[in-house]
Amino acid sequence: MFLMEPKLHEFEKIYGDANKAAEARRQYLEKATGARLENIGKTIIDLNTVVGRNIENVIGAVQIPVGVAGPLLIRGDYANGHYYVPLATTEGALVASVNRGAKFVTESGGARVKVLKDGMARAPLFRLPSLIDAVEFVEWVHQHFDELKKAAESTTRHGRLKEAQPFVVGNYVWLRLVYFTGDAMGMNMATIASEAVARYIHEHFPKARLVALSGNMCVDKKANTVNFLLGRGKTVVAEAVIKKEILERLGITAEDVHNVNVRKNLIGSALAHSYGFNAHFANIVAAVFIATGQDAAQVVESSMGITSTEPREDGLYISVFLPSLEVGTVGGGTGLPTQREALALLGIAGPGDPPGTNALKFAEIVAAAVLAGELNLLIALARNELASAHQRLGRAK
Ligand code: NAP
Repeated sequence: MFLMEPKLHEFEKIYGDANKAAEARRQYLEKATGARLENIGKTIIDLNTVVGRNIENVIGAVQIPVGVAGPLLIRGDYANGHYYVPLATTEGALVASVNRGAKFVTESGGARVKVLKDGMARAPLFRLPSLIDAVEFVEWVHQHFDELKKAAESTTRHGRLKEAQPFVVGNYVWLRLVYFTGDAMGMNMATIASEAVARYIHEHFPKARLVALSGNMCVDKKANTVNFLLGRGKTVVAEAVIKKEILERLGITAEDVHNVNVRKNLIGSALAHSYGFNAHFANIVAAVFIATGQDAAQVVESSMGITSTEPREDGLYISVFLPSLEVGTVGGGTGLPTQREALALLGIAGPGDPPGTNALKFAEIVAAAVLAGELNLLIALARNELASAHQRLGRAK
C-alpha cells in the first residue's frame, strides 16, 4: 500500500507545478493512510516559491497562532524605540508573560542592549599523518589566512571570513571558520565558503585530508560549550533596572526576585549541569524564531545563556546574556509571506543598509524580549503565581 510509482518526490517534475504536486501528494496520502489533510492543504504560500529553497515533498503548511508583546522600549545601538514583538506559540500564558515583562521594562526606562560579537562558524575537520603535521598545518593556516579568506569570499558578496580558530586533537585539526554574514543567519553562506577554503587547502596543503566539512565544533543545533565561550551568530547582552515602585506594587522586593534567580537559575542549573542558567530563554527565542522564519532547530544553542540580577537601592538590576543567538532577516524562511510581515512589524524585513544592520537590530530586539520574559517569570515565581497563570491562560474550556 505504501509503495508507489512514481515516487512522491517526483511529483513536481510530473505536474510541472508545486501546488498541483502537493495536492496530488495529499490525495495519495489520504488514500494510503485514511487521514484527512484538507487543512494542511489550505495555505497562502505559493508552494512554487518554497520548493528548491525551503522544503521537499511538500504537502501544504501548518499554522501557529501569533501574538504580540509590547510596546517594549529598547535602547540599543540599532534598535531604538518602542517595539511590538511577534511570538508564535501554542503555550497559553507565554505572550502574556513577555507582555507583562515588557511593561515593567518599559516603565523602568527600557532595555539597554549591546551586541558584543557577530560571527557565524563552520568547522571543517582535517586529518593529518601525525601530530607534528597537525601543528605544522595550524601554523600554515595562520600564515596563509589571507589566501583562505580570498577563497572563502569568492563564493559570496556579503560573507567575510573573520577568523580561523584551530583545535588540535592527536593528528586531527578542527578549523572553526568564523564569518560575518551580513543580514543572513549565514549557515548556507558559511558552509559554501568553507568548502572553498577546504578546496584551497586540498590544493596547497595536501597532507591535510578533509574528513568532514562540518566537524561538530561549529556548533550547529546541539547544546555545547564552545559557542557559549567563543560565541556564534550574535553574542548579545540586555539589561534594565526595574523600578522599586513597580516591585512594591506587586508586593515583592528586589531581594525576592534576586533570591529566586540565584537559587533557581544559578544553583539549580549548576546542579542540573544545564547550559541554560536562565528561566525560559527558549520560550521567547522559539516563539520569535517561528514567527519570523528563523531555523527553528537553532533554538538549541540560541537559547543558551545566563540571567544575572542584583538588588539595588533603586530597584532590581537584571541582565540576560545570549552567547549564540543565530538570526537573520534575509534567507531561510524569512521571505515567506507571514514571516516577512512579522519582520516588517519590527522594521527589519529584508536586507539592512548597510548590510548586516537589520540582523544586528533583530538580535537586540530578541535579547530585549528575552529580558522581558525572564523578568516576568522570576517575578511570577517570587509571587508564587506560576501555576495559577497557566491554569487561567492555558486551560480555557
Ligand atoms: P541563504 O538564503 O542560503 O543565503 C543568503 C542569501 O542572501 C545569499 O545568496 C546572499 O548573497 C543574499 N543576500 C542578499 N542580501 C544580503 C544581505 N544584506 N546580507 C546577507 N546576505 C544577503 O541564507 P543563509 O543564512 O546563508 O542560510 C540559511 C539557511 O541555511 C536556512 O534555510 C537554514 O535552515 C539553512 N541551514 C543550512 C545548513 C548547512 O549546513 N548548509 C545548516 C543549518 C541551516 P551573497 O552570499 O552573495 O552575499
